[in-house]
Amino acid sequence: MYQPTIGLEIHVELKTRTKMFCGCLNDPLEKHPNINICPVCLGHPGTLPTINKKAVEAVLKLGLALNSKIPETSKFDRKNYFYPDLPKGYQISQYDAPLVIGGELNGIKLRRVHLEEDTARLIHSTDDAHSLVDFNRAGVPLMELVTEPDIKTGKEAVAFAKELQLILRHLGISDADMEKGQMRVEANVSVSKDNELGTKVEVKNLNSFRAVEEAIDYEIKRQIESLENGHKIRHETRGWDEFEKKTKSQRLKEEAHDYRYFPEPDLPLMDLTKFNLEELKISIPELPDQKRTRFSKEYNLAPNQAEILIEDRLLAQYFEEAVSELDAEIGGIDTEQRGIAIQTLFNYLTSDLKGLMAEQKIGIQELNITPENFADLVVLINKGELSSRLAKDILKEMFLSGRDPRQIIEEKGLKQVSDEEIIKKMAEEVVAENPKAVEDYKKGKETALQFLIGKTMAKLKGQGKPEIIEKLLKETLTKTK
Ligand SMILES: [Zn+2]
Repeated sequence: MYQPTIGLEIHVELKTRTKMFCGCLNDPLEKHPNINICPVCLGHPGTLPTINKKAVEAVLKLGLALNSKIPETSKFDRKNYFYPDLPKGYQISQYDAPLVIGGELNGIKLRRVHLEEDTARLIHSTDDAHSLVDFNRAGVPLMELVTEPDIKTGKEAVAFAKELQLILRHLGISDADMEKGQMRVEANVSVSKDNELGTKVEVKNLNSFRAVEEAIDYEIKRQIESLENGHKIRHETRGWDEFEKKTKSQRLKEEAHDYRYFPEPDLPLMDLTKFNLEELKISIPELPDQKRTRFSKEYNLAPNQAEILIEDRLLAQYFEEAVSELDAEIGGIDTEQRGIAIQTLFNYLTSDLKGLMAEQKIGIQELNITPENFADLVVLINKGELSSRLAKDILKEMFLSGRDPRQIIEEKGLKQVSDEEIIKKMAEEVVAENPKAVEDYKKGKETALQFLIGKTMAKLKGQGKPEIIEKLLKETLTKTK
């Protein structure tokens, strides 16, 4: 039996206002190349870097959230190599004294988290004749998280990366969008048999969660097959080919650079005891896992329902505000009733309202409907005053005008008729006007009843409650000879 061993290295661009070692804006949306640059991030001789305290705090905050150890001191080092995207000829990174040590996430142990600077972006012409360099990204704070090789499958690796992404977003440290390169995952994969250590292969070019899973699973299979065929695994870097769905050799590790790390002489040793860790800890918001527990307990949501809210912080906030309005309105009713009302609220929010927002391409922050009005609508639905058909119409009207549902109902005369007196009168009229259908019904024809319900509903302009119509029609029919 072969045992796969997988460790991850995840780079994350931090969402700070300015770059890591200079005052240039860190703006990933900047379309114009070489706008946010200065002599420091261009690596001009004689310039000196300054540490961005906010970036350091962001990494420490993540460390605290993941129960890691924050050492007393930390330092930056120079990682020397030459590449056109690195103007200084070295990258300021951290070698043997990272900001964060250990910790755990999703049952996977962490080795370390450190901070470095991102490189410039290279844009290659389609004919490969020339390359352009955009330095806007040069010097952007880049965090690198390294796990212990605790992972066994592609699926586990994805679960880890997804949870990390959620935490980064909750902490406000990074948007961690993989497609935008804000979060880049690399996997070290090896397989071993009989407790012998396998040869590690580094898999790169994983630009989506799907690529992470497919590439790791492919690589495990490739290595096992290779060993079975009597080949040796080469210590190399391989890139995932999204189209061919396979990893391909990029370079042998024997050729890998010796980075000649040494302490960055232009930056002081960092005394991390000077940071107010208690204060940082307090500033950590409720994290996804705590939310899962609370959403299940407070709102009785199923795990997949809770997940929809956890993945969308603003939607979750809106949901919670609406539930609190709901509680204020229906306060005192039993928990079962409350549970039903919350389910109605959740369903209308995540299907109908989300659908309307997607249609109009607007986000929750531009939404016209206040949580209070949304809760009002739910109360009306649950009282049986609105059929689901009417509720959808009113929701759409609320969406367009931002008005109170009761106001809309009144103006449009839309209220569902549940007044038995009115419905009974209409049912009697319908029975009197349709003797043929009544006769058919008496002969046991089920469709005749549906026909009569339809006629009654038409008289009520579609606003009758179907169950009441059916009940009262049946009563009238039994009385009719
Ligand atoms: Zn700069």
